[in-house]
Amino acid sequence: MKLIFERSRSGLRCATIRPLEAPVFTLEQKYLRSELALPEVAEVDLVRHYTELSHNAFGVDSGFYPLGSCTMKYNPKLNEEVAAFDGFTHTHPLQEKETVQGNLHLMNDLASSLMELTGMDGMTLQPCAGAHGEFTGLLLIAAYHESRRDSKRTKILVPDTAHGTNPASAAMAGFEVVNIKSNEEKGVDLDDLRSKVGKDTAALMLTNPSTLGLFEKNIEEISKIVHDAGGLLYYDGANLNAIMGIVRPGDMGFDVVHLNLHKTFSTPHGGGGPGSGPVGCKAPLVKFLPFPSVVVDKKGRYEFTHGKENKDSIGKVSAFYGNFGVMVKALAYIKTLGSDGIKESAEHAVLNANYMKAKLQDIYPTESHRYCMHEFVIDLQKLKSETGVSAKDVAKAMIDRGMHPPTMYFPHIPGVIDEALMIEPTETENKETLDKAIEVLRELYETAHTDPKYLLDTPHNTPIGRPDEVAAARNPIVKYDL
Ligand SMILES: *Cc1c(COP(=O)(O)O)cnc(C)c1O
Repeated sequence: MKLIFERSRSGLRCATIRPLEAPVFTLEQKYLRSELALPEVAEVDLVRHYTELSHNAFGVDSGFYPLGSCTMKYNPKLNEEVAAFDGFTHTHPLQEKETVQGNLHLMNDLASSLMELTGMDGMTLQPCAGAHGEFTGLLLIAAYHESRRDSKRTKILVPDTAHGTNPASAAMAGFEVVNIKSNEEKGVDLDDLRSKVGKDTAALMLTNPSTLGLFEKNIEEISKIVHDAGGLLYYDGANLNAIMGIVRPGDMGFDVVHLNLHKTFSTPHGGGGPGSGPVGCKAPLVKFLPFPSVVVDKKGRYEFTHGKENKDSIGKVSAFYGNFGVMVKALAYIKTLGSDGIKESAEHAVLNANYMKAKLQDIYPTESHRYCMHEFVIDLQKLKSETGVSAKDVAKAMIDRGMHPPTMYFPHIPGVIDEALMIEPTETENKETLDKAIEVLRELYETAHTDPKYLLDTPHNTPIGRPDEVAAARNPIVKYDL
């Protein structure tokens, strides 16, 4: 399609302005531009241009978006409307607290709801992404050990199926990362854990259910092993979809948890934000939380904590209080669902994933025969060796059929899982949509055997087919030569 600059034709306008009647004031020449290249188009061209652009982008509102580990569920528009209320969008972070009592009330309510959902004793809403939450949580853990003069705890244990941000955050927080192997059942290998845990263990970071969509059945044993060695347990709660309202990380033995409000709690994401990654912790770590947080006094007035009560705090981790608009949507989501609704959506997330898994597993083998939670991983290694068609080819072909591809090549455990597609249908999809996706995936399997060549350069029906992803990342061309 053409750029708006290429549509431009001299003299075209969106509006005609009446001739000037007021006296003309002329600026000095030095303040004037010699040239200003703005596109000149009529209103109808402008509307058509941006409408066409929007049609070239795929989002949750366009179709099925089973991007595993990302929880691309439909976000109710009501929550957007609430977040756009003037009373929320027109407040300034430096306003006197007396004038923003409603906002503080909301933040306090959200923190309490999230504490209840996770089984934690304290919560900060400051971090602005999942990875930012991980980094914050790890700083809490470092502060905890330091406060006990336990300075030898320099290592963070991370299973090999973990999200890439886990080891990255641990390294950024100054820890050494130690990998823990998976066992036959694709859970944490307890013998490997026992051999690596010790006096130098600061914490184990765990995602439960794991990124393979499997619930870690040995969690109580794992918790005991790590705690007996003096380490802490960190919960990556980016995807709480499978368990919210059913089981709480705090009850599984976790000490610190982060959540992704922009995955589980109804903020659209992808394309870079805004996000929110609140961090909760158990009582012994609360005093280290970032400040300020919201508290309520005896007269029911909301206040920020500051100064003295924060002397042990790790400090601020973002400007002001975090992404407030995302907090509004999260609380609206929690309040409209209620505790029964939250539990029900978790049940539907798990049901939908198991339905798809069961309908596909005769041709697309999964990593485990156990029931999955909110997502599952199929391995296309066999398909690739039989037909030459890879996970990427199948994923790209789905685009032609009006669906976003699943997450590709994650987890990647060389020799164990090399051709992964991670499918997360989410609870907001109905049976018809799931059946359609199943039908498409089954057809693509057939095509891989009958006409593999056709799949090697999919998608065929999109403006851009297969860009060179490495070149696009290494040498991006961000300037267009008119
Ligand atoms: C998305 C995700 C993260 C990171 O969240 P960001 O907001 O993208 O930084 C961490 N862990 C898991 C399991 C995730 O799915």
